[in-house]
Amino acid sequence: MNVENLKSAVRNIPDFPIKGIQFKDITTLFQSAELLQDLSDVLYAQYKDKGITKVVGIESRGFFMGPATAIRLHAGFIPIRKPGKLPYKVIEEKYTKEYGEDAIQIHEDALSADDVVLLHDDLLATGGTMVAAYNLVKKFGVKKIYVNFIIELEKLEGRKHFAPDVDVESILQFEI
Ligand code: AMP
Repeated sequence: MNVENLKSAVRNIPDFPIKGIQFKDITTLFQSAELLQDLSDVLYAQYKDKGITKVVGIESRGFFMGPATAIRLHAGFIPIRKPGKLPYKVIEEKYTKEYGEDAIQIHEDALSADDVVLLHDDLLATGGTMVAAYNLVKKFGVKKIYVNFIIELEKLEGRKHFAPDVDVESILQFEI
């Protein structure tokens, strides 16, 4: 299996949703049964021996491969959502975005200290969203957190916001 095939199936949309952003559209990869299977296989191979008990996906594009990977790993799936979406008691983490503040939430009983977590989102840009998610999951005192993205935009250097001992992996790397 060739990861380059996955990479070339990602569609780049210039100036979406605002001028200056090179939006990475993964729907073009997902519409191919073969490539979707390949992507799932890569994720499974990367984490099958890590003892993952919960996959935590970030709204909304972390909800595509998050549950699919959880099923293959025989793990549970936990959503991290934007404020006001989760129905039960939540824990919240605020973070700074390019324009103002944002926040994400998780159910307060979603994880326990016995869990080994795979934290997943579609794309690493500046890293703000995932660092907030990492801090949120850390509050549960879980055994270990693995961080995974389908795509990493390397020029934005999002991974430098994680401590060097954090296991951060991406499957497809783009410059911007
Ligand atoms: P960040 O917090 O800057 O790392 O942004 C990551 C979040 O924003 C992810 O959930 C992505 O879905 C989305 N995102 C940021 N930049 C892009 C981009 N160029 N193409 C697609 N999605 C993006």
